[in-house]
Amino acid sequence: MHNFMTQCCIAGGGPAGLMLGYLLARAGVEVVVLEKHADFLRDFRGDTIHPSTLTLLDDLGLLEAFLRLPHQEVAQLTADVYGRVVTIADFRHVAAARQFLVLVPQWDFLDFIAAQARDLPNFSLMMGTKARRVLEDRQRIVGVEAEGPDGVFTVTAPLVVAADGRHTTLRGSAGLGSDDLGAPIDVLWFRLPRDHARDRAETGGVIRRGTMVVTLNRGDYWQCAYVIPKGALQSLKEQGIDAFRQRVAAAATFLSDRIGTLTGWDDVKLLSVQLSHMPQWYRDGFLCIGDAAHAMSPIGGVGINLAIQDAVAAANLLARPLLDDQLTGEHLAAVQRRRQWPARVTQRFQRALQDGVLAPVLAGLGTPDDLPLQLKLLDRFPMLRRLPARLIGIGIRPERIRTGPVASPHPAP
Ligand SMILES: Cc1cc2nc3c(=O)[nH]c(=O)nc-3n(C[C@H](O)[C@H](O)[C@H](O)COP(=O)(O)OP(=O)(O)OC[C@H]3O[C@@H](n4cnc5c(N)ncnc54)[C@H](O)[C@@H]3O)c2cc1C
Repeated sequence: MHNFMTQCCIAGGGPAGLMLGYLLARAGVEVVVLEKHADFLRDFRGDTIHPSTLTLLDDLGLLEAFLRLPHQEVAQLTADVYGRVVTIADFRHVAAARQFLVLVPQWDFLDFIAAQARDLPNFSLMMGTKARRVLEDRQRIVGVEAEGPDGVFTVTAPLVVAADGRHTTLRGSAGLGSDDLGAPIDVLWFRLPRDHARDRAETGGVIRRGTMVVTLNRGDYWQCAYVIPKGALQSLKEQGIDAFRQRVAAAATFLSDRIGTLTGWDDVKLLSVQLSHMPQWYRDGFLCIGDAAHAMSPIGGVGINLAIQDAVAAANLLARPLLDDQLTGEHLAAVQRRRQWPARVTQRFQRALQDGVLAPVLAGLGTPDDLPLQLKLLDRFPMLRRLPARLIGIGIRPERIRTGPVASPHPAP
């Protein structure tokens, strides 16, 4: 493999990296995306595409094609709290291209964006290719050393973007750090069959004393999340898979007739929840976005959508300077200024829910007659359900696409 040059080298073909690569290439920038895996087909890592992202797909003229992929649409989120069903978010009124949240396998979404990008002559996606470290010249990052199926090579570029997720390699290699905000929970993910005829349809959660199970309707199966106190997996394993099955079935009773399909711990994947953010997202010639810049808690399923918002802001702010070969650290600082605040405020909400609702529930606190105040209010006043819908579905400071050859059909916010 030969060394080569490009205008922007992006490490990581997740939602952030692929969307940024697509938008920059669409605006005329020459882009190379390096993705360490050979395909997008991996373990479950989130399937939620929120109204904010549907609006962006609409801006790009891709929404109808996207909605032709097999998917489920969720207009309301509910939680069964000690037997009382509370609607916690109602998306039917959000100001977006569609008033629902879409559940679609993440690999289908990534394949879809990659297919659009591959149609562009100045976009290149190198699968099975790992970014190993950044290259520096006089305090400036000038490229990446990468390893692909044909060996080690270098890519030099005026801009390197680390979109390599929460276990980022490039962030540390560039000498940048991240502050851990702490998370009192971990999540166990597994699938159980869905009975079309008998099961309810809604995506939602079940809270019982000491237990929380979230069930996402994925058509033929339920994607289930079982929330545990941080680090509790080992003691669950010591109690055995049968005890775990009983815990799940005792909370989500409608799953008890098929809980046996969970044959062992290999069927259960641990998400070690992390909440972190970087004090500084950039150096000269280098920028972190998405989970690499701010790992999110799974609460609200906002990680994919925030990563995409970062990508849109970065493309809006960086396409022109890259095309003019005028990129400076100030342009990169502008991306951080634009996206840091939404990420931090969202993390604050996630923390408040983690510490104020989930941790007490898992500790066995609360009673059926003593719902947390937030849930009582949502139960009593349906109008209030629009607020969590707005926060989850649209987010803070939503971005619109301002780059590329196609004029946006929507007015800027
Ligand atoms: C189990 C689980 C469930 C989740 N559920 C949800 C959910 O329901 N909704 C939601 O919105 N979010 C969810 N998330 C979070 C969501 O997946 C992330 O927030 C989102 O994917 C972040 O996008 P990203 O592009 O920044 O990073 P990632 O999606 O992590 O993408 C990073 C990419 O970089 C690649 N990569 C890593 N290192 C290198 C390297 N050195 N060189 C080249 N490539 C590299 C990786 O293979 C990966 O493809 C979940 C995460 C997990 C793990």
